[in-house]
Amino acid sequence: MIKADVHMHTNFSHDSESTPEQMAEGAIAKGLEVICFTDHYDKDNMDWGPEDIFEPEVYFEKMTEVREKYKDRIRIRIGVELGLQPHLGGYYEEFVKKYPFDFVIGSVHSAERSDIAQKRIFAGRTDEETYRIIFREMVEDVKVFHGFDIFGHIDYVARYGRNHEKEYSYQKFADEIDTLLRLLIEKGCGIELNMSGLKYGLPFAHPHTDVLKRYRELGGELITVGADGHRPDHIAYDFHKVKEIFESCGFKYYAEFKERRPTFFKV
Ligand SMILES: [Zn+2]
Ligand SMILES: [Zn+2]
Repeated sequence: MIKADVHMHTNFSHDSESTPEQMAEGAIAKGLEVICFTDHYDKDNMDWGPEDIFEPEVYFEKMTEVREKYKDRIRIRIGVELGLQPHLGGYYEEFVKKYPFDFVIGSVHSAERSDIAQKRIFAGRTDEETYRIIFREMVEDVKVFHGFDIFGHIDYVARYGRNHEKEYSYQKFADEIDTLLRLLIEKGCGIELNMSGLKYGLPFAHPHTDVLKRYRELGGELITVGADGHRPDHIAYDFHKVKEIFESCGFKYYAEFKERRPTFFKV
């Protein structure tokens, strides 16, 4: 059984109404041993507004209290999901030095300064053209900043095109994805298996197993698992499928992070 769900949101994220306590209770009910809160910190996301970013001091105060409250029932880590953009390299470099996060996810939610989920970036382009623009910008994001532990939901863009996953495959974007994976491995960053793809109705979790296999082939080993839940019932979503996915792609271990250092669990 998978013991750690290290990607989840609470009401410190603009898109969740669940309290940290509700999420902790939900995780205990699912039998998890470890969770990590990874609320959104998307600086300069034009569609979210500055009020959609949490105050780190308030966040740490609350999460530390919750960690303490549940310490006999579940191990709680305090993390963050940063929204990467090419102009934010220096900013995030300082940000992760300043606060004592256990775990930092670097995710891309914007390209061309536009929130991907808002879909404006798809206007006047095919899905394939847009996906390529986004994958290329991801590489730029990681070139300027790689002070995160794992890179989030690599191919989540496939949720947002008009034809969703129909114009997406690893093979179609092998150049871009290989460049990204090689760069992550070179910088010592891992990736995650993010189960929200299945939750959104795609036929795969993020990233697609072809990408997971390629990451292993290129020498990548570091991987975490998260349901990216925004409600208690989303915690550990479809985790019964994780073992088979990992085994079929050649992963023997998955990680969770405390004080930015990984601990490994056998699959
Ligand atoms: Zn995300
Ligand atoms: Zn997330």
